[in-house]
Amino acid sequence: MQQFPFGVVVHGGAGDLARYSTTNRLSEAEAFLSQLIDSLYTSLDQGAAALDVVTQAAIALEDCGLFHAGKGSSPTSAGYVELDASIMEGNTLCAGSVAAVREVRNPILAARHVMESTNHVLMVGAEADALARDAGLATVDASWFTPCDISAGAWQVPDSSSTGTIGAVALDAQGNLCAATSTGGTLYKRAGRVGDSPIIGAGTYARNTVAAVSCTGVGEYFIREAAAYQVCSRVQLLGENILAASGYVMSQIDKLGGSGGMIAIDSRGAFAMPYSTTGMYRAARNSVGNRIVACL
Ligand code: ASP
Repeated sequence: MQQFPFGVVVHGGAGDLARYSTTNRLSEAEAFLSQLIDSLYTSLDQGAAALDVVTQAAIALEDCGLFHAGKGSSPTSAGYVELDASIMEGNTLCAGSVAAVREVRNPILAARHVMESTNHVLMVGAEADALARDAGLATVDASWFTPCDISAGAWQVPDSSSTGTIGAVALDAQGNLCAATSTGGTLYKRAGRVGDSPIIGAGTYARNTVAAVSCTGVGEYFIREAAAYQVCSRVQLLGENILAASGYVMSQIDKLGGSGGMIAIDSRGAFAMPYSTTGMYRAARNSVGNRIVACL
């Protein structure tokens, strides 16, 4: 029987990770990512769908508290968290997102609910929380959140390098490409501010036979470059490989003055994980034998 390629890539955000090199934060994150990438790979190997694998990845990354998404999110300038997430299926181009939610435990599940059970793509604020609650998704109060950046000391220096997000992209053995992204946003962001993570085409994009992309960094720049969509377009229309396409888009973000990173996988399972910060929490594994887990 012919073996079709498959693979999965995850990130836990790009930023000034070098500042953590004297702490155990990076080794803790690497241990977590190492276990996660192997369990996601096993799911794909056993025939799981890319959509379920990126969802499984995002839930684990949201719940672990190590990254600035879900449980690990830091509050806005107003003192409460506002979370954004999105998910996209490359075979149907169906997509769902939520922005500025405050109660749903796993924003990625709320985004998936928007995609699968409504006619909409993006729901925001209290109405998005209500939709998730009505769908029976788990809710949490402020005591659930254990902001990872505050505990790591980054809270004292809120600036553009204080970012973090989680994301996952996958190619399954049926050739389906999917992407998911979830974030607490930039550290100490203004309440009501929404970045690229829930914007389809900016922080997240997937198209079968082309690529799936999830971004992290200062979202305003990724929105202005339509970053995730642009990577897919370069692969589709210019025939660039995934390394060249993602590298080019990161260079354009750099030229605008932005910073961050992205993960991308193509329809043959080749992946790229470029970043312009001192580090990006990342892990990848594919069926042609490539496996990487790294932070710096
Ligand atoms: N891109 C996210 C945002 O701008 C933050 C991040 O990835 O660090 O909200």
